[in-house]
Amino acid sequence: MRKTVVAYSEDRELGLQILSKGREISDKIGAELCALLLGHGIKDPEEYVRHGADRALVVDDQALGTFSVESYQGAALEALKDLDLEVLLIGATKRGKELAARVAAALDAGCMTECIEIDVDEGGRLLGERLTYGGSVISSQVSKRKPHIATIPPRTFKKADPSPRDGEISVLDVVIQDQKVKVLESRGKSKGDTGLAEASIIVSAGRGFKDEADLKLLEELAQILGAKVGCSRPIAADLGWMEEWIGISGYKISPKLYIACGISGTIQHAAGIRDAQIIVSVNSEEGANIHEISDYSIVGDIYTVIPALTKALKDRIK
Ligand SMILES: Cc1cc2nc3c(=O)[nH]c(=O)nc-3n(C[C@H](O)[C@H](O)[C@H](O)COP(=O)(O)OP(=O)(O)OC[C@H]3O[C@@H](n4cnc5c(N)ncnc54)[C@H](O)[C@@H]3O)c2cc1C
Repeated sequence: MRKTVVAYSEDRELGLQILSKGREISDKIGAELCALLLGHGIKDPEEYVRHGADRALVVDDQALGTFSVESYQGAALEALKDLDLEVLLIGATKRGKELAARVAAALDAGCMTECIEIDVDEGGRLLGERLTYGGSVISSQVSKRKPHIATIPPRTFKKADPSPRDGEISVLDVVIQDQKVKVLESRGKSKGDTGLAEASIIVSAGRGFKDEADLKLLEELAQILGAKVGCSRPIAADLGWMEEWIGISGYKISPKLYIACGISGTIQHAAGIRDAQIIVSVNSEEGANIHEISDYSIVGDIYTVIPALTKALKDRIK
């Protein structure tokens, strides 16, 4: 039986991103690369073949129309049971992480979570790197026994460009057992895409802002720069002034320019901005950590500096 690498995420974009890493690993160990698709009314499984899969394993069942970890776990295990599974890569969404842990437990396998890099060594062991201690350290881990399971956060890898390729679509007839948990209702989140992940300029607010209305200052600066507005976690999670934040538990961003205003630069925030090309900080406290990790530091009051910056930019455009 041929060795197999499987990539799965219920989020199609993330599924395609981890598929590209799966391709590299499969080529290295001479394995078949399968994309696993679970759900109901699955469209265009061929897209996974165009993006690098040798085979798409499709489990399309009404019982998978609404996510329930029990039914997804059952379906995944059924789909994997006849494979010589070497590596299973799962997208590290909330659902993916829950599923990965359960599948790993059922297969008596280890699970490396939220890997920012993965590879295989000559012995076929999976090597993973993950941020630890709030992002201040990268830990290297080794999965010694197959099947090797790892979860991968969104935007860690780039999806491959699509190309016409030969591949197989295997529609699996899987019996989904009755579940102990019944999902009565699910409600979608109302928020739209913040655009932070793709933004090339981001201006960002921290607790240096005293009032929600003051964010207008930042919005004016953003408008003139063509930037997106982000924030540190307390602004969103505690104060509810915005919906999403930047950092280890929020968006990891990689803009050309990041302007942090009234943000102290804790390791949790810094972990999310490490891929920014240029970091500018505006903070009144000279010893604030954000100045340490910035390319340009302005030690000053955001209520003075931001309007002055906006004015200077406006004057330049005139
Ligand atoms: C498990 C966990 C995960 C976390 N994940 C994240 C994450 O993903 N992202 C994140 O951001 N945080 C995260 N945090 C929270 C993090 O630890 C910090 O609490 C948070 O980043 C601090 O936000 P802040 O910099 O806006 O606020 P503060 O730390 O309070 O800093 C405010 C800064 O504003 C400056 N300031 C005040 N007034 C002015 C002024 N008028 N002009 C200029 N500067 C001024 C101050 O000097 C200070 O440095 C996490 C925490 C935990 C425990």
